[in-house]
Amino acid sequence: MIVFPQLGKEPFKPGLVKLPVIGWVKFRHSRDIPADGIVKQARVVKRSSGWYVMLTLQWNVSVPQPMPYGEALGVDVGLMSFVAASNGYCVKRPKFFVDLQSKLKLLQQRVSRKRLGSNNWHKAQQKVAKLHEHISNTRIDFHWKVAHELCNQARTIFVEDLNLVGLSRGMLGKHSLDAGWGQFFSILEQCCFKRNVYFQKVESKKTSQICPNCETQTGKKYLSERVHVCSNCGYRTDRDVAAAQVVLKRGCAAVGQTVKILAEGKFIGIPMKQESPCL
Ligand SMILES: [Zn+2]
Repeated sequence: MIVFPQLGKEPFKPGLVKLPVIGWVKFRHSRDIPADGIVKQARVVKRSSGWYVMLTLQWNVSVPQPMPYGEALGVDVGLMSFVAASNGYCVKRPKFFVDLQSKLKLLQQRVSRKRLGSNNWHKAQQKVAKLHEHISNTRIDFHWKVAHELCNQARTIFVEDLNLVGLSRGMLGKHSLDAGWGQFFSILEQCCFKRNVYFQKVESKKTSQICPNCETQTGKKYLSERVHVCSNCGYRTDRDVAAAQVVLKRGCAAVGQTVKILAEGKFIGIPMKQESPCL
């Protein structure tokens, strides 16, 4: 990667970008640059599919911070499904990743059968790198798709704070099952920002050990237990949905307090409709 901390005056012509020292370089103008935007930095990155120019822009816009309002949704990263929401909406782990992973294995085996450093070895290696990039792009697309679907369903979204998950659940925790969740939550946060949906992380401790209906501690569940059944109140639902409902409850409690504090300050009367279909 090469970083150009500054570009000269008027660094663009149609299909061309002027890089310091290097000069005019042909490029595919994939995204528009706002007229009043100032290019602060250019980064040139090599990926297996080619060279990319990434631009960092600065332009003056006022960005209002969304407030908690409307329908709220708790989101849990599930053991059974990829994500589960407090309204019962679940997204399965997509099958195409499994297919791509087995394809990757096959290509990696091919590399190991070639003579190290030979032409064919380089070609095989290149194919592996390209597939890696494809898998990563596919995962990003999938994460954005799920994030948009969640934003379609709520104006306020609460998620578990994953930084605490690792500490509280140890090696067998969800963390070790799929490292993609960190990226997903970061994409979900960006998506909420774009869609003007309020996004808030909440405490993730024991979300799967509490009854969302009566808040009784129901204890640890085995991995094979797919259903939450409360011995106290009899509430019964999918285990991941139950965890998402605990997240929603915590979120509403946290925001309720924020709203109260803000009401004492300058924000008065923030609409917070606490409608949660499952509770
Ligand atoms: Zn209960």
